[in-house]
Amino acid sequence: MLENANTKRTAKRYYRKKNDLFSLLEKMKLWPSRSGRLHGLKSVELRGEAVLLTTHCGETYAVRNSRNSRAARWLRNKYYASACGRCAVPDWKLAKYGQTVFSRGHGAFLKRGQREDGNAA
Ligand SMILES: [Zn+2]
Repeated sequence: MLENANTKRTAKRYYRKKNDLFSLLEKMKLWPSRSGRLHGLKSVELRGEAVLLTTHCGETYAVRNSRNSRAARWLRNKYYASACGRCAVPDWKLAKYGQTVFSRGHGAFLKRGQREDGNAA
């Protein structure tokens, strides 16, 4: 019998809605651009209030690290028109994205890779 990848269930994962944009991006490594294209992220950096990101297709963006930004909203709603062909986001990653649930009362608070120990102003 042939094995079918579609029968493999992707576990649902839950994230809190309150996670900020940077935490989401760092965890998911996906960037929904304004045009509705879903890019894969090569790097995500937090610089004060700004998030600097580089996609695999070579685009760079600087966005505000806000929970209420368009991108944070789109990530939570899993809203995108198409995956970027040049970023070559793998199918398993899109499946995982589709199985991610954002909830106010349930789920993980994402921990940042690097802790912020006060402001280096
Ligand atoms: Zn791309």
